[in-house]
Amino acid sequence: MSSRSERACMLCGIIQTYKRFFDNGCPNCEQVLHYQDNDDNQIQDCTSPSFEGLVALGEDNKQSWVARWLRIDSFKSGLYAVKINGKLPPHIVEDLTSQGVLYRPRDGSAED
Ligand SMILES: [Zn+2]
Repeated sequence: MSSRSERACMLCGIIQTYKRFFDNGCPNCEQVLHYQDNDDNQIQDCTSPSFEGLVALGEDNKQSWVARWLRIDSFKSGLYAVKINGKLPPHIVEDLTSQGVLYRPRDGSAED
């Protein structure tokens, strides 16, 4: 178990502190995941403290191959995890599907 407070959003991959998810939600997924409106469980369920690799996404590299490969080229600038250990729980995936959002696990199991 890691002691660091950073967590990665399992939907978009952005890395933020627990407090930032709690206070500000996710800059990319707030509209569908609603971190701010929920209790602690939403952050526990939809973000993971276990991730590998970091990519700093900025205005200057949004068109880069790595941004497209990670499917983060349309996301907000920030720090993103290359791989996240963990998956969104089934009830969240169902909720996303009903909102028309395709969830692609970032744990390396997604097929292209
Ligand atoms: Zn997100």
